[in-house]
Amino acid sequence: MLQGKTALVTGSTSGIGLGIAKSLAGQGANIVLNGFGDAEGPKAEIAALGVKVAYHGADMSKAQEIEAMMVFAASTFGRVDILVNNAGIQHVARIEDFPIERWDAIIAINLSSAFHATRLALPAMQAANWGRIINVASIHGLVGSAEKSAYVAAKHGVVGLTKVTALENATTGVTCNAICPGWVLTPLVQKQVDAKAQALGLSNEEAKKVLLKEKEPSMQFTTPEELGDLAVFFCSPAGNNVRGVAWNMDGGWTAQ
Ligand code: NAD
Repeated sequence: MLQGKTALVTGSTSGIGLGIAKSLAGQGANIVLNGFGDAEGPKAEIAALGVKVAYHGADMSKAQEIEAMMVFAASTFGRVDILVNNAGIQHVARIEDFPIERWDAIIAINLSSAFHATRLALPAMQAANWGRIINVASIHGLVGSAEKSAYVAAKHGVVGLTKVTALENATTGVTCNAICPGWVLTPLVQKQVDAKAQALGLSNEEAKKVLLKEKEPSMQFTTPEELGDLAVFFCSPAGNNVRGVAWNMDGGWTAQ
C-alpha cells in the first residue's frame, strides 16, 4: 500500500517509534530512522522487510539538527511523505520539585520538535497534495496525572498542534492526526515500573500490575505493533478524511 512512499519516524531506535517504523515498512514505505543508542540493529530489522532504510541521529531538542535531518531525508529519498513525530522523554516529580532543565527538555523534545519537523515537512507534502503527519501524543494529551506536569503540558500541546495542522491543510491531501496510547511497555515505562517496584518493595511483575490497575481497566499494555497498525490506517485510503483526531488506544483509561 505504501510502496514508493518515504516515512520519517523520530525516536525510532526503540519502543513505539520502532514499532511504527516496522509497520509502515511492512506496507512498503522506505524509512528514515532517528533516535539515540544503537541504530544498526533497528536498521537491519527494517531492511529485512525489503525496503530502503536510512538513519539520521538529530537531537530532537535542537531545531538546527532537525533541519539537517529533514534536508538529509529529502536528499536521500526525494521527499518525506509520512512524518511520525514520536520522540519523547519523561520525568516524574511534583511541580515544586520539578527540575527546570527537565521541564525545558521535555517541552523541546516532546512538543517543539513536532512543530519544527512539521513546518519543514509541510511544503513538499502540500506540493505533492499528499501527506500524512502522525503525532504520537499520549493519553496524557487528553487527561492529567500527578507528577507529570511537563509531559502532560507537552502532550496536550501536541494534541492542539495536531488540530491546527489538520485545519490548515483540510482542503488538501495532507492529513494530521494524533495517537494517544495508554501504558506501553517500552524502556520509558519500564523506568516507572522499576521506580514503583523499589518504592513499594514489589517484584517487576507485581509492579506492572499495580501500574496497570491504577489506570487501565483492560489490565493489558498496548503494544508498539498495535500502534503501528493504527498508523497504517491513518496512511490508508480509508484515512483520507480523518483529520485532527486524537485517537486513544488505552485499554479503557479515558472511558472511566
Ligand atoms: P522509548 O524510550 O522506548 O523511545 C524513545 C525514543 O526517542 C528513542 O528512540 C530515543 O532514542 C528517542 N529520543 C529520546 N530523546 C531524543 C532526542 N533528544 N532526540 C532524538 N531522539 C530522542 O519510549 P517510547 O515509550 O517508545 O516513547 C515514544 C513516544 O511514545 C514518546 O513520545 C512517548 O511520550 C509516547 N508515549 C509512550 C507511552 C508508553 O506507555 N510507553 C504512552 C503514551 C505515549
